[in-house]
Amino acid sequence: MPENHDVVIVGSGPLGLAAARRLAEKGAQVLVLEQGNAISDPPGSHFRNAERFANDRDSYLPAATGFLEFIDDTVPRDALPGAAVTRTVGGQGVIWTNLCPRGDAPWPAMSDEAWSERYGQAEGYLHVQADRLDRSIRQQRIGDALNGLVESSGRQATPLPVAGRYDQDGLLHFTGSIDILNGSSAGGKVTIRNARVNRIITEGHNVTGLETESGSIEAPQVIIAGGAIATPQLLHRSGIRPKALGRYLSYHPLAICQIVVAPEFCRESGVSDFEPRIQLRPGGGVEWYTIVLHDVSPFMPSGNDARVEGNRLVEIQSICPVDNEEHKRAIFHDDARVTFDVPLSQADLGRMAGAEKEARNIADLIGRIREGCDVTWMPFGFAHMTGTTRMSAEDDGTGVADYRGRVWGYDNLHLATNGLIPTRMAVNPTLTGVSLAIHVADGIAG
Ligand SMILES: Cc1cc2nc3c(=O)[nH]c(=O)nc-3n(C[C@H](O)[C@H](O)[C@H](O)COP(=O)(O)OP(=O)(O)OC[C@H]3O[C@@H](n4cnc5c(N)ncnc54)[C@H](O)[C@@H]3O)c2cc1C
Repeated sequence: MPENHDVVIVGSGPLGLAAARRLAEKGAQVLVLEQGNAISDPPGSHFRNAERFANDRDSYLPAATGFLEFIDDTVPRDALPGAAVTRTVGGQGVIWTNLCPRGDAPWPAMSDEAWSERYGQAEGYLHVQADRLDRSIRQQRIGDALNGLVESSGRQATPLPVAGRYDQDGLLHFTGSIDILNGSSAGGKVTIRNARVNRIITEGHNVTGLETESGSIEAPQVIIAGGAIATPQLLHRSGIRPKALGRYLSYHPLAICQIVVAPEFCRESGVSDFEPRIQLRPGGGVEWYTIVLHDVSPFMPSGNDARVEGNRLVEIQSICPVDNEEHKRAIFHDDARVTFDVPLSQADLGRMAGAEKEARNIADLIGRIREGCDVTWMPFGFAHMTGTTRMSAEDDGTGVADYRGRVWGYDNLHLATNGLIPTRMAVNPTLTGVSLAIHVADGIAG
């Protein structure tokens, strides 16, 4: 029996489902193909909403990172030992930590007004808010101290938005990918089916279908939303190999430490405080992004600091952007392997040194580093890969897709991935990616 979908989307992560929702809202029947199985109940909901993590937050990160399939975690730094994919209903949008700042490096894919509108829509899809942070004593007092520290650069400590909603007990329900559809009447027009797409079938400038293990699926319009690694990998596997594929790769070297906060910044012992989330955005010559929050930690604290009251803790995360340069790249091999070659430049390394220095200054200002939780760089490539299928204004070899996410040279092949982001962005990318997915969907549905 012929199927009646108007658009087929490959990948059920937040970007795939955001595009699906937008298309369905405009009347399209959408089929989403996802190769992974569910790891949460209901499928596609946030893994972190399980009760055990509310009782023991530090067990979350080790459990969540168990769903990362590292490409090769034994390789040296420039070959990105942290690069990983997640195959599951909802993609990495069921294990992410939900921080949702607006982007800091826009490019002219849309006017400023259109960007702002798209960000607003994406915030609605993901239920992004910064509610209740004014109730946090650490938010207020640490925020004031940070403002004193960064005043000369013109930066400011501001609340960091998060994707989630509070229940009546004040517990944060983290937005998972499926909540994007649940928040909309469009869900009835979207079907998610378990299937791995092995190849995009093309004829001239058109995609005619998608090849899966159980046969091919006809596809009037196609969006590949497989993440920043698997999306270009699928294009390459299908013989779609524009010059920019995998090149201009950027990602975030990410350092984290945990701080025992001095008592004067905290609520009195035994009285619970709302968890702080503070951001210091890039600006005034500073090119990295610093976050101070109490969320999740990868550390095993030791010695006298093995046990510290939660009210007295924060983490500092330093997020450093890497310049988009043509030679920094993912390499797709004919045997289906992907490897990386991303040598960091002096400018990239300079940002990392500056960000680490700032983290240590903040630690000294508000307390001291917890024993066993000193500044640690996460495996390189772990966080926020972008640029691998970048957008460009012209089909001049510097981009894979146009400013509507349509692959150059194809009429009905579109992308929705952070890989489209062509600029050096310092902040977490998902909100920008979801904004782009909406923009791409609008380009198809009109
Ligand atoms: C631990 C962690 C914390 C994070 N925290 C944050 C944060 O706080 N803020 C932020 O902005 N970002 C964060 N991120 C990043 C965020 O999760 C990603 O930006 C986001 O999930 C990307 O969405 P996506 O839809 O493009 O891809 P993904 O979420 O990777 O989903 C892609 C899906 O496509 C499927 N797929 C791929 N190829 C095929 C194929 N051939 N056939 C069928 N299916 C296929 C995959 O199985 C996968 O399920 C975090 C990531 C991790 C791992």
